[in-house]
Amino acid sequence: MHSCRYLVTHRLKRGGWLAINGLSGAVDLLDDSTKEKLELPASNGHGDWDQDLLAKLRRRGYLFDTPDEEERLLLAQWERQQRRIQERPFGFALCPTHSCNLACRYCFEGSITSSRPHVLGPDAVSAAFQVIERLGAEQPSRKLEISLFGGEPLLPSTVDAVRRTLEEAKARGMGVGVVTNGTHLSTTYRDLMTQYRDQFSHFQITLDGPREVHDARRPFRSGKGTYDVIVEGIDLLASLGVRTVVRVNLDSHNVRHLPELAEMAVQRGWTGKANVRFSLAPVADHLGTSDYGARLPEEQLVREVAEVMAASEVTRKLFRLDLFRSAVHLGHVLGITSTRGQQMFQYCEANGLNSYVLGADGCIYPCSEMLDQPELAIGTFYPTFRIDEEKAAPWRRRSILTMPKCRSCEVATFCGGGCAYQALKQCGGVMEPACYGAEKVMDAFLDCFGDRLTSS
Ligand code: SF4
Ligand code: SF4
Repeated sequence: MHSCRYLVTHRLKRGGWLAINGLSGAVDLLDDSTKEKLELPASNGHGDWDQDLLAKLRRRGYLFDTPDEEERLLLAQWERQQRRIQERPFGFALCPTHSCNLACRYCFEGSITSSRPHVLGPDAVSAAFQVIERLGAEQPSRKLEISLFGGEPLLPSTVDAVRRTLEEAKARGMGVGVVTNGTHLSTTYRDLMTQYRDQFSHFQITLDGPREVHDARRPFRSGKGTYDVIVEGIDLLASLGVRTVVRVNLDSHNVRHLPELAEMAVQRGWTGKANVRFSLAPVADHLGTSDYGARLPEEQLVREVAEVMAASEVTRKLFRLDLFRSAVHLGHVLGITSTRGQQMFQYCEANGLNSYVLGADGCIYPCSEMLDQPELAIGTFYPTFRIDEEKAAPWRRRSILTMPKCRSCEVATFCGGGCAYQALKQCGGVMEPACYGAEKVMDAFLDCFGDRLTSS
């Protein structure tokens, strides 16, 4: 008998163990003796087990006759997930510019947002759509989806590029999502928003707290606050009925202010709108090179968020932790994230090249953090189209199944192998694991939320 390799157990405060099976997806409460036996090496045998319990543990994927049987389940889950991916739209992020009008204290894009004011012309946008069609043809069963990204995609200087994007997308029946700081929505872009309302599939807009907190973190380059214009922008999106995610980037400066933001969202009437929802994300620093001092390790942030939520019902009800990657599956099981839980075979969509980023420099990148580094690009879309297969290949292949260290790691299906960009820059190549301490984040989640399961 062989115990599942991808088993995470956690002692509950009220006694007993929570077992989370990262392979079958089963979650169970175990007593001490069952947990100990499950963790015994296979050579110790399981002969003295109660036969009913043994059958149940086998059914739920904790025990296998042989390692091969476990391997077959692993591959079956991978194939299931690949089929699910095929049902989802295939995404392209198009960056009309890498410039941005804000000076966010924690921005990961650094100097590229201020050093090159280059903007895609309408011709380059049309060329991008031709390439989108060509690359999209490799995914014949999938709908194609465009997201405008940057820098900041909605600036006065990008109106022509954005209009051309909407027209090109409309001609092809594609929806357009927008990741924006929202500072020009209710002014420069108000008419265009109304005119193309049905063309927009979704917006993501960041609001980091009540006025003073937000303004200290996300000011204009002049230093002036952005809170008021962003709130007006969210009002506009709420009234237009466009699907909108209000994202809060969290660190030690704003996590304690979530209840004030939640109260404000209620007063503003956003919580009564079906098209508006709210997500929390850690301020990330994949390369660990930022000198921004307020970033918290993800596990510490989880504990802080849990404390704030425990003390504030409105916060608990409003915010989801969807963007804490390693906790997506756990969060779903524990009822604290809205994303459907599943194994994390790949850390992000750049793995497997499940999306492409088309930069304002005419380059094609696997990930948006690589913008303005043509030497890392996997191709170009303007002025000519080219994919460098040698550079693209490791991105296509990367998953916990193709990285030997990940394949035998017990938290692999929660971790996903870490950030491929970090792996490229710091770990020796895209096909190397980039361990980020997923087990610590999981521990924090289970410490804070695990006991919920015992009452359900
Ligand atoms: S990146 Fe590290 S922690 Fe994550 S699955 Fe691979 S080996 Fe395990
Ligand atoms: S490769 Fe890393 S930086 Fe790029 S999208 Fe994925 S997680 Fe983010």
